Amino acid sequence: MIAFLKLLFRNKLATLGAVVLTVIVILVLMTPLLPLPDPDVTATADRFKRPLTGGHLLGTDHLGRDLLSRLLWGTRLSLAVGVAAAVIAAFLGSAIGITAGYFGGKVDNIFMRGVDMLMAFPYILLALAIVAALGPGLMNALIAVAAVNVPFFARNIRGITVGLAGREFIDAARLAGMGHTRIILTELLPNVLPVIIIAMSTTVGWMILETAGLSFLGLGSQPPQADLGSMLGEARSALISHPHTSVVPGIMIFLIVMSINLLGDGVRDALDPRLRSGALSRPLPTTLVDRKGEVPPATDDLLAIQELATQFHVGKRIYRAVDGVSLAVKPGECLGVIGESGSGKSVTALSVMGLVASPPGVITGGAVRFQGEDLVGAPYETLRRRRGDRVAYIFQDPLSTLHPLYTVGHQLAESIQSHHDVSSSEARNRAIQLLKDVRIPNVESRLDNYPHEMSGGMRQRVGIAMAMANEPDVIIADEPTTALDVTVQAQILALLNDLRRERGLAIIFITHDFGVVAQLCDRMAVMYAGRIVEEGPTGDVLAHPLHPYTKRLIACVPELGEGRRELAAIPGLPPVVDDLPPGCSFAPRCDKAQDRCRAGDVSLDRSGVRAVRCLYPEEAL
Ligand code: ADP
Ligand code: MG
Repeated sequence: MIAFLKLLFRNKLATLGAVVLTVIVILVLMTPLLPLPDPDVTATADRFKRPLTGGHLLGTDHLGRDLLSRLLWGTRLSLAVGVAAAVIAAFLGSAIGITAGYFGGKVDNIFMRGVDMLMAFPYILLALAIVAALGPGLMNALIAVAAVNVPFFARNIRGITVGLAGREFIDAARLAGMGHTRIILTELLPNVLPVIIIAMSTTVGWMILETAGLSFLGLGSQPPQADLGSMLGEARSALISHPHTSVVPGIMIFLIVMSINLLGDGVRDALDPRLRSGALSRPLPTTLVDRKGEVPPATDDLLAIQELATQFHVGKRIYRAVDGVSLAVKPGECLGVIGESGSGKSVTALSVMGLVASPPGVITGGAVRFQGEDLVGAPYETLRRRRGDRVAYIFQDPLSTLHPLYTVGHQLAESIQSHHDVSSSEARNRAIQLLKDVRIPNVESRLDNYPHEMSGGMRQRVGIAMAMANEPDVIIADEPTTALDVTVQAQILALLNDLRRERGLAIIFITHDFGVVAQLCDRMAVMYAGRIVEEGPTGDVLAHPLHPYTKRLIACVPELGEGRRELAAIPGLPPVVDDLPPGCSFAPRCDKAQDRCRAGDVSLDRSGVRAVRCLYPEEAL
């Protein structure tokens, strides 16, 4: 809640809206306590007094009634009616939307066709018709305004609910034996509530306007009762001769609607989870670069990540997700990057092609060189041409990276055509060849499958085929086999290995599985809290880890048939990267840590074939 308010008030316009609205609300709440004249008492002798004359701060209207008093009492009424209409419309609309979306089928049809019928009439006409049928009066205006807004909520909420109703957590609730009411109230409602609040906050202003409109036409509040609309309506005939009688309610309507809309927009932005973690803007096409310090010189590696630092700036917090990471691959080489979840592996991988979401991500130092050319801060067009063409990615979950509405053949062809000027039939032939390369059987029929028609292993093959589509020089695979079972995993690894040998492909393979690293990688690097703590040839590192962290990690891996060995879990959790301890970040969990480890920065010792960031490394052989 505090975080939400902080985020909301970082938006200056929303703050302005909140301040104006608060002042108005406080004023109307205090109205009965203020020493104001009776708003309905007429004094024809005092007609059309100008503001600030005869003890009337805002002057008087055509019947000599005090305008300030009428304004405050009228605002009170208008706000109450508008908010009540919004609450009623939101409640009824959401109830209809959730019920229709959750039950689907016939219920959905009946409810939604009813809503469609309401929507078939022009908005204001419908409200007018309802008031005409019920008779003029503020209560009936309220009912009319609420009724015409029900479809808006019903449609919105139904859309969200339909998406949620098919999700696994609803199935799980059903399996747990919960009844419909309970599922709707405890599982669905919390998920749609933010949407309801957003829809309400952006429509309250509109409903206040509609109520004022009906009153203006004489269909809402009846004389002598004042609300903002009726005040405007009564002042209409004196608009030219005594403009202050119209200006006063006019400005109030303007202030209310403006402040509610600004605040509503602010609430919507602050509740949007995509915007919650960052500043109030959408991600940029490339990661922001704010590089301080020197850029490391070029090397002869195919892809070199040099002293890369990527941070997330969230409010005043700075998360050092990647802090001075250097990695390099040569053609045909496979480098494994291993580390616990949250150690910065994915952020390192995404930084290579400027794919870290910005805001909040910022690359604050180092370089990424592809064939010597620095990609950090390169123009978007340069990066775009390299992405997927020279450097390709394979991600963990192909179901979320493949588009659900296109066939895999279409998507493969598209990834080729976005970099090469080839005809559709040529791209299709190439897609067939690619799927054959990744050993998918019956390729011709599989080509027209949608992603959901394939198994997990099959989809991951499509993911690999897509990465291979433009014969890249480097593939960055971010836990591509974590979601697969061991047999499929072994096939996928064998496949990647073949591709690397056949085509001289360089692979950066990110995983937390030592078995996978041992099988595939020539060299490996171990990451902890955004830094490399150990690097070297895979066999050496696995046989004789130098860093205590690597040693403890390896000790956590169960061995087949060695049931009696006790698994030594590492106590504690990886540190949160916005508040790293000084010195070695592993020191708090390390049983060999000395005072020196906690005192100052520990540098990565790259003197030999092996590199290790530790003051008291294990003995090398
Ligand atoms: P992994 O090694 O599991 O792939 P990541 O690279 O995804 O880890 O994450 C590294 C660190 O960056 C994590 O500690 C995470 O908290 C932080 N991080 C990632 N994305 C964001 C973000 N949008 N805002 C703040 N911190 C983030
Ligand atoms: Mg990751």
